[in-house]
Amino acid sequence: MDLQLNAKRALVTGSTAGIGFAIASALAAEGAHVILNGRTQPRVDDALARLRAACPQAAVRGIAADLSTATGVAQLLAACPEVDVLVNNLGIFASVPFEAIDDSEWFRFFEVNVMSGVRLARHYLPQMKTRDWGRIIFISSESGVCPPAEMVHYGMTKSAQLSVSRGLAETCAGTRVTVNALLPGPTRTEGVAEYLDDLAKQKNLSFTEMEQQLFSSARPTSILKRLIEPAEIASTVAYLCSPLSAATNGAAIHAEGGVVRSLI
Ligand code: NAD
Repeated sequence: MDLQLNAKRALVTGSTAGIGFAIASALAAEGAHVILNGRTQPRVDDALARLRAACPQAAVRGIAADLSTATGVAQLLAACPEVDVLVNNLGIFASVPFEAIDDSEWFRFFEVNVMSGVRLARHYLPQMKTRDWGRIIFISSESGVCPPAEMVHYGMTKSAQLSVSRGLAETCAGTRVTVNALLPGPTRTEGVAEYLDDLAKQKNLSFTEMEQQLFSSARPTSILKRLIEPAEIASTVAYLCSPLSAATNGAAIHAEGGVVRSLI
């Protein structure tokens, strides 16, 4: 299937690793002109080299900017004033007991996970409406609808993204701009692998045993019963970025392996 993304300018935030890198790779393979982003130039350069090695025809460039602050977002916008597709992928997580999350940590999570996307959308959405075409995707999480006890602050940001995404879609009525959110489930990224590896060591289990325990106790409703591969999230995002997905707007699309036991 041709996703008709050829030469579309697509910014993927937090894309030097994990799901973001997989999304950038999928869009580049479809012919989009991709802008990678990470915090440091060496990480961005490394990701550019990996992407070009995997996809030699890729039209891709990178911008180092820390999107956890308004200043960092402004730097990125100066280097990349126009896009057709914005994927708000950047997001951080941490397993911390509720009682130990202080005010500054609540605000930090909100700023990184929610305000980075809000600030970028505030800049790019008006021009998408003027051109009467555009795509904004917020990478939320199953945690946005099933708030996790071990990271309540993270869950709050992922729910907030769903609300922002739907609200922005409402402002696009009558245009060919779509705004959607995607809800991944537990995905085999470097960060998640490290997290599970640490837990496995604490419990004297192998990584495979730890993965099995994740799906028998922490996420027992998973139908997939394994970690999702980043490319399996990226393929859904690439479709949502495509002109072919025109009828999907204001939606919260699940790609979480069936963890969320719900009919809609
Ligand atoms: P990751 O930690 O593997 O990658 C994060 C990327 O963001 C890296 O490229 C990192 O350099 C970059 N980054 C971090 N802070 C940054 C900043 N301040 N400015 C710019 N770049 C920054 O992340 P991931 O696990 O792939 O998660 C990506 C998104 O998917 C997040 O929004 C996360 O909440 C969501 N998600 C992940 C999972 C999962 O299991 N991995 C599940 C559900 C949802």
